[in-house]
Amino acid sequence: MTRSGSPAWPGIKPGALCAWLGLLLAWPLAGSAQPAARAHVHGQVKLEVVIDGPTVVIEMSSPLDNFVGFEHAPRSDSERQRVDDVLARLRLPDEMFKIDPVGNCKLGPVSLRSAALGLGKGEGASAEAHADLDGTFAFNCTNATATKFIDLGFFNAFRSVRQIDAQIASPQGQFQRTLKKPNARLAWSK
Ligand SMILES: [Zn+2]
Repeated sequence: MTRSGSPAWPGIKPGALCAWLGLLLAWPLAGSAQPAARAHVHGQVKLEVVIDGPTVVIEMSSPLDNFVGFEHAPRSDSERQRVDDVLARLRLPDEMFKIDPVGNCKLGPVSLRSAALGLGKGEGASAEAHADLDGTFAFNCTNATATKFIDLGFFNAFRSVRQIDAQIASPQGQFQRTLKKPNARLAWSK
């Protein structure tokens, strides 16, 4: 139940890593036509769905606030409980991502990342006032390329989420979709 803070990263100075991450984050903006790609907007979740061969892989980026209502390491038992509940929900994301049954998809590896929560490649101390919770959700399917929609559970599960911006890369083409509450079906096809 108790967590003993962020995992240690021996040999890496937080300051150096922050600077390196800063470069990494700034780089895509240099020559890109998508300045809003990394925007941190409360209420908004970004998804990138890639359908390739037998897999459906979903990359999620979101402000941490969307899920737990704060953007720092948990400071009380109730905050800790909240984080544990959210992480449990996202690690078994059947209700978050109900993929078109025609694909016959089963959940594969899930990885969650949040520096504020000490998950994944977190950089520990940060001067930023905001924090994210990102995830990668992989599904293995017998007919992935036939799928045409995913019913998303975010609006039901997390009150703060109001909009989902998604990019889909599938054998049927590339699609961009914006869903506003309560429209929870992410659909694509020509
Ligand atoms: Zn924020």
